[in-house]
Amino acid sequence: MIIDCHGHYTTAPKALQIWRDAQIAALADPAHVATKGIVGISDDEIRESLEHAQLKLQRERGTDVTIFSPRASAMAHHVGDATTSLHWSQHCNDLIHRVCTLYPDNFVGVCQLPQTPGVPPANCIGELERCVNELGFIGCNLNPDPSGGHWTAPPLTDRYWYPLYEKMIGLDVPAMVHVSSSCNPNFHATGAHYINADTTAFMQFLTADLFKDFPSLRFIIPHGGGAVPYHWGRYRGLAQDMKRPPLGDLIRHSVFFDTCVYHLPGIELLLKIVPADNILFGSEMVGAVRGIDPETGHYFDDTKRYVDALKLSDQDRRKIFEGNARKVYPRINKALEARTPAPAATPGPPARQPRWGGAPSRGRA
Ligand SMILES: [Zn+2]
Repeated sequence: MIIDCHGHYTTAPKALQIWRDAQIAALADPAHVATKGIVGISDDEIRESLEHAQLKLQRERGTDVTIFSPRASAMAHHVGDATTSLHWSQHCNDLIHRVCTLYPDNFVGVCQLPQTPGVPPANCIGELERCVNELGFIGCNLNPDPSGGHWTAPPLTDRYWYPLYEKMIGLDVPAMVHVSSSCNPNFHATGAHYINADTTAFMQFLTADLFKDFPSLRFIIPHGGGAVPYHWGRYRGLAQDMKRPPLGDLIRHSVFFDTCVYHLPGIELLLKIVPADNILFGSEMVGAVRGIDPETGHYFDDTKRYVDALKLSDQDRRKIFEGNARKVYPRINKALEARTPAPAATPGPPARQPRWGGAPSRGRA
């Protein structure tokens, strides 16, 4: 089985954006009382939005299941207040739940958190619980910079974030560190802000004892870890100078990278630097880069081709394609039990249980 750990509903029916535009427009009227309202989208519209996009690409590329979350660039936590963010997040998460219900063999949900600049992350706990316990989601996307490019929140290692981490551990769910759109014109959203945030999160983790406080807390740093693999020597040296643990010890049970790097040399480097145990297959399709690479004739975001091209042991390949996703997102195991059996030849789940100390998720959903 091939699990793509990084997909967003970038093709959601137009009614979602129409609702969002109206919500933002209403913010201009101080007398307006915010209500959640309704987003009118039919099941057929959802099917239509996926059949010629994510589902078609899954089939063509030979992947099986996508860990699916709302469009990251649209989270825009800097817009409005905590109620704005909550209503928007709930609609986006409800829609992901409908996708996963319509296509339980193809998608498993991860939620958008209703973050807001200046509002403690503990405020997101209710929506995280709703998504995991009621909607069957298996993780969340955590924005380290809800201000959208101005970095006004404390570092991810600050106790400011701890109540949310405690809830994540209680639910046995990880977070993908994922910023949203940039309202700072210095930072192009997907070309700079995303990659900056990936790199920044890693450096924050390096400098503090977050994983001593929370040994079972797990983060996925997407987009191949930003600049981290390329500058691994710099980070190793900084860790040494700062009397911090070796990077291998830092990341072993806590920090994981996806394969959303859109060329083979980048993936080769990632695999050379980061242990296979800490890499999850991901494509972020349909996402940031949608074109065809004229040098190869294939889509830039067809990341499976790059992993296929690597010289890997069968064991490592299975870890990257399947085993690590099951380990980092343990609740996916229950979700996949209900999956329609795949044809023979598809490997079964690994015998090993999650190492994280959290009990299997059975019964918690
Ligand atoms: Zn993404």
